[in-house]
Amino acid sequence: MSTLFISDLHLSGEREAITELFIRFLQQRASAADALYILGDLFEVWPGDDMIQPDYESSIAAMKQLADSGIPLYVMPGNRDFLMGETFAEVSAATLLQDPTVIDLYGTPTLLMHGDTLCTDDVRYQEFRSMVRSDKWKNMFFSLPKEERLAMTTKYRKVSKEETAKKAMEIMDVNQQAVEDTMRAHNITRLIHGHTHRPAIHEFMLDNQPVKRIVLGDWYEQGSVLVCNKTGCQLENLNR
Ligand code: MN
Repeated sequence: MSTLFISDLHLSGEREAITELFIRFLQQRASAADALYILGDLFEVWPGDDMIQPDYESSIAAMKQLADSGIPLYVMPGNRDFLMGETFAEVSAATLLQDPTVIDLYGTPTLLMHGDTLCTDDVRYQEFRSMVRSDKWKNMFFSLPKEERLAMTTKYRKVSKEETAKKAMEIMDVNQQAVEDTMRAHNITRLIHGHTHRPAIHEFMLDNQPVKRIVLGDWYEQGSVLVCNKTGCQLENLNR
């Protein structure tokens, strides 16, 4: 038996093949797993639990079917879908996870994060992140009419895409010092995160201990899945 980790699916009506791949993954692979963890950016936009996009309904129904069948399903919000809340948890039957969260993975304490907080070199993004996570911004946002909320999320998405195209690759990757500080603070030897879309297993020494930082891949071109069991973890790609 194994535990599966995925992230950065960025589900959207514009890429239906990914939604289909995700639903098949839930019905087949995940239904035979010990648990499924989704570490952020499952959805491309999330303007609030009270306006779930019709494009997401089939995925949410398949998630609920999996969870109702007895497979533990965990979802951590990412930077795109950070406004997910209790209504989403109810309709998907998923358990929402705080970012960061430490779990016991077959005896190894493992830190789970979306990963955006580790990208400390991207100062502009970190400023934006603090702004939209503030109560002041959230109150303003939820006081807007629904169409405006959707327009605003879509606009942020567009601006972010334009900025990303201009930024240097290194700026958008994690900062190694931030990684080490975070791993040390949580006293763990294994970290799993997504966000950067650079799937890899990085092994290095931290305070004379061998540690691992595992990065999940996105689902733009293919489904990247991390499979963990008692002997360790490996990255796989789902065939479409
Ligand atoms: Mn992200």
